[in-house]
Amino acid sequence: MSSKEYILVTGGAGYIGSHTVIELINNGYDVIIVDNLCNSNYDSVARVEYIVKRPVKFYDVDLRDTSKLSEVFSSHKIKGVIHFAALKAVGESTKIPLEYYDNNVTGTISLLTVMKNHGVKTIVFSSSATVYGDATRFENMIPIPEHCPNDPTNPYGKTKYMIENIIKDIHGSDNSWRAAILRYFNPIGAHPSGLIGEDPLGIPNNLLPFLAQVAIGKREKLFVFGNDYNSHDGTPIRDYIHVVDLAKGHIAALNYLRNLNEKDGLYREWNLGTGKGSTVFDVYNAFCKAVGKKLPFEVAGRRDGDVLDLTANPTRANSELKWKAELSIDEACKDLWKWTTENPSGFRIENYQWKLFNDSEKVDYDSRLHTVRMKDLEVSFANYGALIQCIRYKNKALINCFCGIEKYKSPSNPLFGSTVGRYANRISNGEISLGGQTFKLDKNENNKNTLHGGTNGFHRQMFLGPVVKGHESCITVEFTLLDKDGNGGFPADLVTTVKYTVRSNSIDIEYESFIDENSQVDETAVNLTNHTYWNLGEEKAIDGTYLKTATNEYLEVDSDSLLPTGSIAEYPKDLTKGITLTNDIKLDNCFVVSKNIQSIDTREEPLKQIAELSNPNTKIHLRVKTTEPSFQIYTSDQTNIPPFGSRSGISFEPCRFIDAINSKEFANQVTLKKGSVYGSKTSFEIL
Ligand code: NAD
Repeated sequence: MSSKEYILVTGGAGYIGSHTVIELINNGYDVIIVDNLCNSNYDSVARVEYIVKRPVKFYDVDLRDTSKLSEVFSSHKIKGVIHFAALKAVGESTKIPLEYYDNNVTGTISLLTVMKNHGVKTIVFSSSATVYGDATRFENMIPIPEHCPNDPTNPYGKTKYMIENIIKDIHGSDNSWRAAILRYFNPIGAHPSGLIGEDPLGIPNNLLPFLAQVAIGKREKLFVFGNDYNSHDGTPIRDYIHVVDLAKGHIAALNYLRNLNEKDGLYREWNLGTGKGSTVFDVYNAFCKAVGKKLPFEVAGRRDGDVLDLTANPTRANSELKWKAELSIDEACKDLWKWTTENPSGFRIENYQWKLFNDSEKVDYDSRLHTVRMKDLEVSFANYGALIQCIRYKNKALINCFCGIEKYKSPSNPLFGSTVGRYANRISNGEISLGGQTFKLDKNENNKNTLHGGTNGFHRQMFLGPVVKGHESCITVEFTLLDKDGNGGFPADLVTTVKYTVRSNSIDIEYESFIDENSQVDETAVNLTNHTYWNLGEEKAIDGTYLKTATNEYLEVDSDSLLPTGSIAEYPKDLTKGITLTNDIKLDNCFVVSKNIQSIDTREEPLKQIAELSNPNTKIHLRVKTTEPSFQIYTSDQTNIPPFGSRSGISFEPCRFIDAINSKEFANQVTLKKGSVYGSKTSFEIL
């Protein structure tokens, strides 16, 4: 067991849990998520990782499975628990109360038992304002204080009430327990990144998720239940709190518990609300403002059980936890609208699926294989190296690939489909000079040069994400990586995103890199490409395939060191006229599209066609386009990883000039300074 101490978050894949995990990590906590995904999707965890740029441990465990839960506690040092996992729909709870009591109460008893057995006695519990029931039954309880008597009116609320009492009794029996009971009012909004939010499964019960569905045309109109209440516009008043504010309340509570005197325990309830009530029409107007138009609504009769005003009194949390809700309903509506428009079906994307991509029995969510299908084209990507694992067109595999991850990790893998970085191709003598300082890199090529970023280049790193978005005609799959300062000897923390766009007959690759704002070092060298080995024929051999390039000029290299001599030469066979590949045409050369570049971000340049490939038997045709100034072509003459041997594939690797960083003339192609952005685009079209 490592000495790292974790906060275990149950239900961390869900709406509030995922936002809280981000805040925990931003506040320096290490997190483990336990979630059985019964009302969520692993993709929310992948997106959390994408946002925080680091992996988060995840266990697909039902809390009621006490022995599996116990294994999680045995394998990690856990210093506290934030307990979100529950079923939460009030209406549903009246229909299937047994499931609610079993899941919420039995699940919590299992969790508390495991915590007790492992000596973990700190818990922050997600309770709800529903425990108060109708607080308007008293004269002076609006805004609602924590001492308002409890009287939940539905099975869901009763599970929360029971759990609060179970935790209170445990604290009563052993007062070294530290328990924060957080009673939420109405959480709304989404993460400002637009990457996570409430996944709208079925018909939403809450006002804003329902309105969001009206706005994107999934529902016809909003029903306003009653406009004859005693409020400024006749609609009922509730306390809406931005989910990010709510998430921050958990950090405040956790810190409060951790800062208690060493021997002190505690059981205490805190309301998490804004203290400011808003009517249904206030929220409706704020959301219409975010959307930019008036949305249809109809005033229906009052709903049974609804009351005028359920606003929180949050002064206890404000003064004791030093926490205060800061975001407005306008901000929540803006964030919700961003989340909704960018993810109209939540985390579910038609034509996209993922599965685990590992050979061992061990379930490893970091290593996943993501498949996108667009008509005749099927493309799979893996987190490992953000690689393109498979491209199938009309059911024919077009690239060399392995079925399991182990072969990708083999030293003889010629980087099939991988992202190559932080610096593709060679760096002479494994050395670069930046800002007057020399950096010694991994010399992984015969102890002389650095090749493809060294021994732990991008092709060997587990990328985070992906964020998958899209619609019928186009799906994007976006991975990210924070490559730490010093990895392979390279200076500066570098953030890179690899974005694939799949359409029915093309795969585009877009790279973007920048130096992280927290990096201590503010200059580095970057050169990114992809190593997909194409084979458009039926056999595991490329000979007989037709190749044509847009240029015949290439960077001349020294035959021993394979480093550029400084000259640009004409390739002996004119590839611009088109040739049929034969065994004697051994290509491993960097062809020149343009002598230099205007900006380190070449995405501003037009995509130029650089090569085409076609096979006379399968009649499949490939066009390669890029914004890059050069591209390496490699006919895989050194490949030897059965069943793939020499000449089993041909790669086109758009990139910057070989060893540009050590050339006065071309160093601008690859020198990245803090504040600037490196970028490029490449497109593979299949016909
Ligand atoms: P959510 O459904 O999005 O998240 C709950 C998560 O718990 C889901 O990911 C689900 O898969 C998981 N889960 C459920 N039962 C589980 C089990 N037995 N084992 C493991 N995982 C399990 O809900 P949310 O809106 O994020 O709510 C989180 C918590 O906050 C819940 O306890 C809820 O009752 C409470 N709460 C929510 C609201 C609200 O309006 N969203 C208001 C007050 C209180």
